[in-house]
Amino acid sequence: MAKAEVKTAILADGLRYKTKVSGSPFTAGTSMGGSTMSCFLCGKHRLRSQLGTRKVIGKSQAVCAPSCKELDELLAR
Ligand SMILES: [Zn+2]
Repeated sequence: MAKAEVKTAILADGLRYKTKVSGSPFTAGTSMGGSTMSCFLCGKHRLRSQLGTRKVIGKSQAVCAPSCKELDELLAR
């Protein structure tokens, strides 16, 4: 426990992400282990953590959270 904490985006083996990495939503599909889904409303691929469910026409659908527009603005920063 004497080691200082190392904060790196990508570990030496290049496979693990230690911290959250922002990137293009269009390249996330294959590099993140397939944990993306497409938004029902805007059709963009999002990480599951960026999606919520909303009832659309009686069915629960995966949509951007808190909303498509707000998530776009968050990712554009
Ligand atoms: Zn959306």
